[in-house]
Amino acid sequence: MDEDIERAADLLREADTAVALTGAGVSTASGIPDFRSDGGIWDRYDPNDFHIQRFRSDPDGFWRDRAALVAEVYDGPEPNAAHEALAALEDAGALDRIVTQNVDGVHADAGSEEVIEIHGNGGRVACRDCGDRFDADPHHAAVRPGDVDGAPQCPRCDGLLKPDVVLFGERLPAHGLSEARSLARAADCFLVAGSSLTVEPVASLPELAVDTGADLVVVNLDETHVADRAAVDIRADVTEALPALRRAVLDG
Ligand SMILES: [Zn+2]
Repeated sequence: MDEDIERAADLLREADTAVALTGAGVSTASGIPDFRSDGGIWDRYDPNDFHIQRFRSDPDGFWRDRAALVAEVYDGPEPNAAHEALAALEDAGALDRIVTQNVDGVHADAGSEEVIEIHGNGGRVACRDCGDRFDADPHHAAVRPGDVDGAPQCPRCDGLLKPDVVLFGERLPAHGLSEARSLARAADCFLVAGSSLTVEPVASLPELAVDTGADLVVVNLDETHVADRAAVDIRADVTEALPALRRAVLDG
């Protein structure tokens, strides 16, 4: 792996614009289970209960089910070595932006400033009526099994609040997606970290980046569909490979 890390570090150092795309593999070391893996969240909860149609037709039931899921999944997650390495790379000027599929907000907790949360942020709620967004606390704090008997209301207009995340059946917000595509086109180095690249349209960003001139670096435990297009393909745990990459970039 050392040679691959050195090569990836060279690409990051040489890039004028470096962009990272992160997925569930970056969050699992913070205790957040991978939703889509075998035995993951969607094996134990019914995805149909978290579909936009369910939210529309039965918001109270939706919020009760979500309370159970949130209580199980998000038990005060803390940044891990992968989050910290990416934040340090940004701080050192070696990484310009992070596009993340994760909705846990932990990149910001680690100190990353330029983060596009393309699937939203589960720590926020958005009002369906007035459009305002709020930190989910105190709503989040109240959202525990037994505490919740219905959907929370907007403190400003009493409208219906929805988690500020992309639900099943919803499109990605156009603004975030077009920004992510622009970044992929602009990137000289595009780093995929902890994403199996199975969920579109995000899964196509690395190929877009390569097609428009970027060197692709992939750090993921399992093989991805872009392995043969990667300049460097590192099959390793992100909590080991990203700190090694940080050391190689900063000390090299
Ligand atoms: Zn409102």
